Amino acid sequence: MRSEIIVDLSKLDGNLKAIKSRLKLGVKVMAVIKDNAYGHGAVPVARHLCSQVDWFCVATLSEAIELRESGIEIPILVFEVPEKQDADKYLDYRITATIADISTFEILKAGTEYQLNFDTGMRRLGIPDEDFESAVNLYKKYEELRCTGLYTHFSSADEPDNESVTRQLDKFRSVAQHFPDELMKHTANTGAIFYYKDLDLQFDAVRPGVCLYGYLAGESESSDLTPIIEWKSYVMQTRAVKKGESVGYGETWKAPEDGTVGTIPIGYSDGVQRLIGGKIQVEVNGKLVDQVGRISMDYFGIYSPDHAFKTGDNVFIFNDEKLNPKNWAAVLGTIPYEVTTSLHQRIKRIYVKK
Ligand SMILES: *Cc1c(COP(=O)(O)O)cnc(C)c1O
Repeated sequence: MRSEIIVDLSKLDGNLKAIKSRLKLGVKVMAVIKDNAYGHGAVPVARHLCSQVDWFCVATLSEAIELRESGIEIPILVFEVPEKQDADKYLDYRITATIADISTFEILKAGTEYQLNFDTGMRRLGIPDEDFESAVNLYKKYEELRCTGLYTHFSSADEPDNESVTRQLDKFRSVAQHFPDELMKHTANTGAIFYYKDLDLQFDAVRPGVCLYGYLAGESESSDLTPIIEWKSYVMQTRAVKKGESVGYGETWKAPEDGTVGTIPIGYSDGVQRLIGGKIQVEVNGKLVDQVGRISMDYFGIYSPDHAFKTGDNVFIFNDEKLNPKNWAAVLGTIPYEVTTSLHQRIKRIYVKK
């Protein structure tokens, strides 16, 4: 086994608890497990969460079908715009479609459940302003379809006190008043749940994503969220290096002193971005050791001047506060979402409850 990702389901439960502690009474949880549950493995995460949440949300129809075929029975909302040739599948698999474009009304099959996504300022998916009125009319006209809800998505809820959140919320409220009250309404992603508790934006449900996996959206820290993964590999080979000898492609790094170099069988194709080369550490035998040289496709090097490891030793790439996707994201100038979704499917995921 070149490496494995260990997902701690007890920590996932802890994060869900932290989310629920911020919800008003009766607000449902629509757990966002798109993109393989942000890299953590959609089916095992769904199996674990399905008795504790009310809905799942995914990006694509094929993700929703995978969940249904794995025996997941709770409602599933797909965010993408349905394609005409797939319309039957929404009905056959009892999957809730999104209408984000008014042309979708005519392609869905009678009996299909859907929710309306209104673009209130994100300008990515969603019915734009100029079609709000048509959407109201089409909703009434297409009685054979079953509308169950209305939603919108915030562009900047990952920043506390961003006035666009209020602006989007006002717009959402004003369009929602043209629909019956009993339709469920939801707006809140991680940022909205954690930073905007005081704006009345939870409505009937929330859509937490990245916080389930232990990260806050944006820069802030949260004391009650914990990353749920460890990433473990081993030292595949070692060699002695002399002061001044280089390691890896391009000879970009040279040993400052005599020491040992270890080769870890993980590379950029596993999700260790090449740009992070030389900027991270790993843990071996309880010690932090520098990663050195360029990251190759399937390998990277580590170095110790005092023989801190030998061939076969376990190596932790992620395991704690210092070694986790949040820190990598900071080094790379990106967000934890990108780090965890980049973890390649080929890496074995193991699920434990500690
Ligand atoms: C991804 C996504 C979410 C979850 O966002 P997080 O920031 O991960 O909580 C919620 N709603 C929609 C429409 C999304 O695309």
